[in-house]
Amino acid sequence: MSDTTLCVGSLEAQPGTKARGTVRADLGTLTADIPLTLVNGTRPGPRVVITAGVHGGEFTPIDAAARLASLLEPGEVHGQVIICPVANPNAVYQGRLNVSPVDGVNINRVFPGDPDGGPTERLAAWLFTHLVDGADVYIDLHCGGIDQVLRDFVGYRLTGDPDLDKATAELAGSFGIEDVVLGLTAEGGNSHAAAARRGISAVLVEVGSLGQRDEPTALRRVDGLLTALRHLGVLDQDGSAPAPIREWVWSAGVTSEATGLWYPEFSFDGDVIGEVAKGDVLGRIVDPADGREHTVHAPADGRIFYGMHGLTVAPGTELAALAIPWDPDAATRSDTLPVPGMGRGSDEADPRP
Ligand SMILES: [Zn+2]
Repeated sequence: MSDTTLCVGSLEAQPGTKARGTVRADLGTLTADIPLTLVNGTRPGPRVVITAGVHGGEFTPIDAAARLASLLEPGEVHGQVIICPVANPNAVYQGRLNVSPVDGVNINRVFPGDPDGGPTERLAAWLFTHLVDGADVYIDLHCGGIDQVLRDFVGYRLTGDPDLDKATAELAGSFGIEDVVLGLTAEGGNSHAAAARRGISAVLVEVGSLGQRDEPTALRRVDGLLTALRHLGVLDQDGSAPAPIREWVWSAGVTSEATGLWYPEFSFDGDVIGEVAKGDVLGRIVDPADGREHTVHAPADGRIFYGMHGLTVAPGTELAALAIPWDPDAATRSDTLPVPGMGRGSDEADPRP
């Protein structure tokens, strides 16, 4: 693979070179200029695609991807690395939300996209066709949104292909992030799920939240990407052993059923602090018109991996996502398994952002 030119649209990198620029995606009623860095090594190895800015308002991943794009040099790369720090420019530069201001669509629900659909569906299809489809490994970087608290985790999906699932589990454990949350199916419109369905080893990496953009978090994430690239053999090993991980599986996604002011019971101190049992009070939604309270209970046991920090919520707003320790033996006892697709609204679980 590395003896060939690496091309994405009009941007190309000969073996042993790095190319940076933008490639224009035609979205039907508008276009988007997608920033890309192509690092084409001189030695054989996998093709790794890294995206950030699939959602707006997720600053640390964008920062980390841009730093990595400046850092990587083709002479040290085995294989090819494609870095896209702003995959969804309209959502990143205008809305700063999970949904695009162009059409109100959350792109991370519609992968692999539709080339004849609306603008966001076309963008998803463009990203899939031009970046993801040719990858051996796909890493999608996210964090909690501007109004969302989050514990760092890596997510991936089980596909039923034992070799692929094993490779992806090992990749998920290579970022130096202790908590790995797996989804029991590869269904849904999340980019990493759609990639997994095509046989690509794909992970979602979530680090940071609340619109923060602190340098230590970005640097921590760059370090994690470098250790993952060493694990993949894209960069030379440095002899370090992977840190131990804990595996989790989603147990519940909680969404608001009311409009009002959200007063969560869980706290946040750099990480979400919250272990809940089924039935525990997660928080209250207060109607600002008459002060009436709507109590929200945990529908299952779990640790809170992300939660709503914003004051104002409406029906459908994601309030919390819970996960429980993964017990592979439970896979044979389906009555004890969480329902696939829980954690809706986030980037992981089935449909999350
Ligand atoms: Zn996201």
